[in-house]
Amino acid sequence: MGDERKQSKHLVLIASPFQGHMTPMLQLGSVLHSKGFSITIAHTKLNSPDPSNHPEFEFLELFDNFLAIDASAHFTKFLELLNNNCKKQLQDLLIQKIQQSNKMMMITIIYDNIMYFAEEVARNLNLPIIVLRSCSASYMPAFLALPKLHAQGQFPVQDSIRDKFVPELYPLRYKDLPFNNTSSEVVQEIIALSGRNRIPSAIIWNTMDFLENSSLTKLQKHYKIPIFSIGPLNELAQCPSTSFLKEDTDCISWLDKQAPRSVIYVSLGSLATMDEKELAEIAWGLADSNQAFLWVVRPGSVKGSDWIEFLPSSFLEEVRGRGLVLKWAPQKQVLAHFAVGGFWSHCGWNSSLESISQGVPMMCWPFLGDQYVNSRYLSCVWQVGLELECLERNAIVIIIRRLLGDDEGKEIRQRAINMKEKANCCLWKGGSSFNDLNNLVEFILSN
Ligand code: UDP
Repeated sequence: MGDERKQSKHLVLIASPFQGHMTPMLQLGSVLHSKGFSITIAHTKLNSPDPSNHPEFEFLELFDNFLAIDASAHFTKFLELLNNNCKKQLQDLLIQKIQQSNKMMMITIIYDNIMYFAEEVARNLNLPIIVLRSCSASYMPAFLALPKLHAQGQFPVQDSIRDKFVPELYPLRYKDLPFNNTSSEVVQEIIALSGRNRIPSAIIWNTMDFLENSSLTKLQKHYKIPIFSIGPLNELAQCPSTSFLKEDTDCISWLDKQAPRSVIYVSLGSLATMDEKELAEIAWGLADSNQAFLWVVRPGSVKGSDWIEFLPSSFLEEVRGRGLVLKWAPQKQVLAHFAVGGFWSHCGWNSSLESISQGVPMMCWPFLGDQYVNSRYLSCVWQVGLELECLERNAIVIIIRRLLGDDEGKEIRQRAINMKEKANCCLWKGGSSFNDLNNLVEFILSN
């Protein structure tokens, strides 16, 4: 562990204010700290991590001038402003750090891909730089194909081709493309953003070789720089809570009282939003399924409402004792609980990896960005989940019964359990992620 080379190397990790990005960055910090490196987490004031949960890190706060994330229509503008606001501050803080430290300290920057201002800072200060990708590898070829599809008039996706396969991206259909439900204006902005010249010296990917080998091979050819796939970080890291919202841990004692694999856990992540009608369909679908459920409804996730106050009292009466609705769950603990038999998810990559790591079969209902690709891979390629075709109560009941009930559900569960074992094997001595982590450590030390 703590040899001199590692002690003289300081890693500055640039985290982004999204829950799904902050979590793997903090996990990566813990993993690299356990390998003997000293770690600074540079983070925005918006959605900052709780330093008391991570006494092993030093923290650098960047004042981003934002009060909230605008993940809707002006997302790319938000990213641009975020990057502009943080650039000079990081550079000044790093210069200060270098001047204050002894001459032997060498810094490597590891940045979240959406905090791309870090590239310019690294270039200006002549520091090595590595990017952390917290999405699936399978998403990236689809994302990289967007400019060509756009030029061919196939993106944004027209209704007439939504169900057709995209040539060269099989088994993705047009409706599985990232950002497929986004407006034409935003699509053009996303494409312009993706065309920026990115020059990290290596990529860290939160995935496993056995799961995404063919996508990783494609990406290796595309980027022509080392790619270290060291996931699943959620299992590798010994990290306390990384949640921005308070986790309601009372749900664990409620789960303790349920029968093994009887509960469907429902959580649609930190960004998805819906209207009251859609939430009501979920509510009545869960009620009509007659299955026990644990349902996270994030405050503010229903447009025009604070929480679930608009649901009729007959809903809560009908599901009393069988259903629990909460604002934010300790998700890793929930997925590891014996009572959980299925996970209705938006297929964010962290949630997908957390579910895979626990062998929990999934019900897939993507909302935005990379989630469409993840959903397709989970249901069609890895076959550890079922796709929900529409957000309608009867369709929900049918899928829940298929997932938790009959022979089909048992087969999916068995595949999920097999996948869990393979995912764990990656982290053991000699496993692909174990080896890539050691390669990453060597790479950091030699650059
Ligand atoms: N999460 C949680 N409690 C909840 C819902 C989500 O702790 O009630 C965590 C979840 O474990 C995951 C993260 O929030 O690590 C969500 O990231 P993901 O990539 O799945 O989706 P995103 O939020 O980016 O859409």
